[in-house]
Amino acid sequence: MYLRATAKINLCLDVLRRRPDGYHDVRMIMQMTGMYDRLLLTPRIGHPGISLETNLYYIPCDENNLAVRAAKMLMDEFGVGDGLSIKLEKFIPVAAGLAGGSSDAAMTMVGVNSIFHLGLTREQLMERGRKIGADVPFCILGGTALSEGTGELLTPLPPMPEARILLCKPNISVSTRDVYGGLVLTPETVHPDVDGMIGAIRSGSVENMTAPDLMKNVLETVTAARYPVIREIEDVMKENGALNAIMSGSGPTVFGIFTDRDRAEACRNLLRRKYPASRTFLTWPKRSGGIGTNDSGQP
Ligand code: ATP
Repeated sequence: MYLRATAKINLCLDVLRRRPDGYHDVRMIMQMTGMYDRLLLTPRIGHPGISLETNLYYIPCDENNLAVRAAKMLMDEFGVGDGLSIKLEKFIPVAAGLAGGSSDAAMTMVGVNSIFHLGLTREQLMERGRKIGADVPFCILGGTALSEGTGELLTPLPPMPEARILLCKPNISVSTRDVYGGLVLTPETVHPDVDGMIGAIRSGSVENMTAPDLMKNVLETVTAARYPVIREIEDVMKENGALNAIMSGSGPTVFGIFTDRDRAEACRNLLRRKYPASRTFLTWPKRSGGIGTNDSGQP
């Protein structure tokens, strides 16, 4: 069974507080994009165990891979006696703030549920997905959603208006844990207006949605302060037709929202020339159940 595991961005991201258990309470708007990894799941009848092959040598192939962990969790719970072979073709940049690993896990769960006829509903899959990672339930849900708590409380929203999304991941790696660890919230911290963003999405206006007080990511205070290239890329996007550009998740990927396709393509080409070591893709907001792109023209 072939599946597409798509990448998410955060249209805005707020951190409300650090909890006594070390986690953070967040409020953010999740948006699925058309950029995807390809998964091929094949049951191994009568041959128990889970194997994974991937095109990236630096991705774990054992239970440290979230797709393997997700498959094992479901197959153990339901006592599946057969095995599973997973072929994972990664296009989504890794450790980028795009939830690539979470999405691979989410789609593996969807595939395992179907292949082995487990009969789980979407909600039941989402509930189990939480044990793999905070972003997994959203990756099962897709579309546009408000995410609260530590990321596990999801409220579906109407689809964001049509636009082009330009993604640019500079050639640096950041650890989500370090970024949250480095976050200092003070009374001066400028928070995004998350409710305003919800209203703007409901209004169906990209212009409203991209207003600077709405489209904002509190974690930029940490990641962009450490890596000036993040603000540079945002500026290039804004100077070249993006209505706004911010960092996704804990970074370092920057995304810009465009309404003009030609300007978005020109900006993608410019960024590829200016930052040849970065990974730059043009995609779009994905409604749940749609199709994706890996920007290489492949299905
Ligand atoms: P988030 O947006 O949730 O912070 P991310 O997109 O930044 O996630 P991932 O691409 O999911 O980060 O990868 C984070 C780490 O998880 C990597 O260091 C990688 O070794 C490990 N990992 C485990 N499984 C996978 C997978 N299927 N794809 C990519 N990375 C994986």
